[in-house]
Amino acid sequence: MKLNETRLMEARERLAPAAIERSPLVATVDPEKCVRCGICVQICPHRALYLQETVLVAVHVCNGCGECVDECPTEAIELVDR
Ligand code: SF4
Ligand code: SF4
Repeated sequence: MKLNETRLMEARERLAPAAIERSPLVATVDPEKCVRCGICVQICPHRALYLQETVLVAVHVCNGCGECVDECPTEAIELVDR
């Protein structure tokens, strides 16, 4: 991950509202299934996903809404307990 992207991700996690941090579910990506299409990154309403070698999840930004799960064409994303 590039340095600026790392800092952006860290800043987003620091600024995440407490309500989001308390969400019991968080998205996780299976790198074996991910084809790096970028759809999830574009549709995430909280900008919690980052396209790198695979998709990374900013876990304190994700609120577990599941929109990325519904849109991923390869079923690479699932919601898990934090
Ligand atoms: S939508 Fe699925 S396949 Fe596409 S980048 Fe996201 S996790 Fe990977
Ligand atoms: S579950 Fe919702 S908030 Fe979390 S990464 Fe997916 S679309 Fe974004």
